[in-house]
Amino acid sequence: MRWGLIGASTIAEQFMIEAIRATGGEVAAVVSTTEARGADFSRTQGIPAHGTALALALDDPTIGAVYISSTNDKHHAQALAAIQAGKHVLCEKPLAMTVEDAFAMVRAADAAGLIFATNHHLRASGSHRAIRDLIASGRIGRVLSLRLFHAVHLPANLQGWRINDASVGGGVIPDVTVHDADVARFLLGEDPVTVVAQMSVSGMGQGVEDSAMSVWTMPSGTMVMSHESFTHPFAGSGLEVHGTEGSIFARGVMTQLPVGEIELVTGQGRAPVPYPQHNLYVQGVTDFLSAIAGKGQPAASGRDGVASLAVALAVREAARTGIRQTVDYVRIA
Ligand code: NDP
Repeated sequence: MRWGLIGASTIAEQFMIEAIRATGGEVAAVVSTTEARGADFSRTQGIPAHGTALALALDDPTIGAVYISSTNDKHHAQALAAIQAGKHVLCEKPLAMTVEDAFAMVRAADAAGLIFATNHHLRASGSHRAIRDLIASGRIGRVLSLRLFHAVHLPANLQGWRINDASVGGGVIPDVTVHDADVARFLLGEDPVTVVAQMSVSGMGQGVEDSAMSVWTMPSGTMVMSHESFTHPFAGSGLEVHGTEGSIFARGVMTQLPVGEIELVTGQGRAPVPYPQHNLYVQGVTDFLSAIAGKGQPAASGRDGVASLAVALAVREAARTGIRQTVDYVRIA
């Protein structure tokens, strides 16, 4: 597969170019809004073509797929243009600034018969897949609650638009809560219905929230508690799933790397849970390519991206108003 990158981003540089190449793909072009950054990015990353016009990637018939990792405000228009040009799209989360825009992207890809996926990397993680399988197997009985711990310290090189510009998608809720919403949906196989939440500025945010805590109700009655932050250097990430017959404790698993430990606790005692430690982003690209080949689904579909965005936006609205929100998925047929 020949790929076009839309966005000369950190995530492309750190993980996605390697993942595309590891799956046999070729990164053919990078589109940046700034000529100099695009030139620098293409030189350092060994990408043959760069430019500021989307046409560089979209008008090239040898490019079959694009990876969109621009700031969040740009995803919608760029994805629609790519779909219009007949490209399969792997788009970063959050898919868009509104649920309606995100749905429009999914609908356009459906109408064009193209694969449109969301890069929710945690769905591709061996640890998360193992936890999901344990829950589905019934080992912990009926699931009572899920606690998500995702309070981290935002690295200095990412302390730009994320902490000071809501207009391009800044704030911990669109950045991290959106991942946690997808994790809850993935592990539990159901969609949050209502949310209550609070958010705060705890030392890093400038005009946007840098911390959030929320509680979600699920159709089954399972309770979900979620904590995200940019300001916690030593908290560590993880999740716990508690059921009537057992509990799963997963430490260090809300990460971009295949790391962390999982422990199952039941009436029989405590036992470590092994899991495959593959590269999350390579797995995500592999699943995306399989979907294009007609052999399966992407790790996270476009609809998954819409739903996670709907939850995140409901959390922000609940925190802003102090009022419980019903998640608006803007369901489509
Ligand atoms: P970056 O800030 O690194 O990149 C976003 C855009 O900002 C780039 O496309 C680029 O614009 C511009 N930019 C990059 N570097 C600079 C700079 N030095 N000065 C000015 N502008 C710059 O963001 P991330 O890579 O962290 O995030 C990009 C997207 O990916 C977001 O939507 C984010 O939510 C998502 N993401 C997903 C992750 C995942 O694991 N799924 C992890 C991290 C991010 P241009 O392209 O126009 O040059």
